Amino acid sequence: MRKTPYTKALMDSEFWLTTQLEEMDKAQWEAICDGCAKCCLHKFMDDEEAGDIAEKEAMPTAFGSDGEEVFFTNIVCHLLHTKNCECTQYERRSELVPHCVTLTKENLKDIFYMPKSCSYRRMHEGRGLASWHPLLNKGKKAKMHELGVSIRGRTVNENDVDMQSFEDHIVTWPLADLD
Ligand code: SF4
Ligand code: SF4
Repeated sequence: MRKTPYTKALMDSEFWLTTQLEEMDKAQWEAICDGCAKCCLHKFMDDEEAGDIAEKEAMPTAFGSDGEEVFFTNIVCHLLHTKNCECTQYERRSELVPHCVTLTKENLKDIFYMPKSCSYRRMHEGRGLASWHPLLNKGKKAKMHELGVSIRGRTVNENDVDMQSFEDHIVTWPLADLD
């Protein structure tokens, strides 16, 4: 995740209350990102426990179209600055990390890959921005960090992990959301 421009003009406009994701301009779109960096965690799909139809319908964007569930680990991309939760190579991220996902208006349908607290997912599901979002906190990420919504202080670098034992690193805290 890169440093997100939460400008005063954007905050004062409260555009997120009146503008759908699909209609946002570039600055608005980028400001929706809360900078939590949960999307920089390694995650994987479990295709063995698809769950029944009722469960899938109850949580429509928590599961893939084939009934696959998303599991998060505490393993984080080596390019992330884990204190400020910003990508150190944002402009080159797709080149340097081919599996780095860039969320766009075109791939919103795949947003179930994102954690429930992801502000794009919240907006997509009609839940709006959470009270801890920087846009509602003078452009600061402090409240988000204090409440434990971001990845700060809870990760291990992918270069320090034996990826053969990635299952030992499965965690549930990325799934949590607040308000
Ligand atoms: S999970 Fe969503 S809101 Fe959080 S940093 Fe990633 S794209 Fe932004
Ligand atoms: S390259 Fe790594 S740190 Fe940068 S945005 Fe992608 S996953 Fe996050």
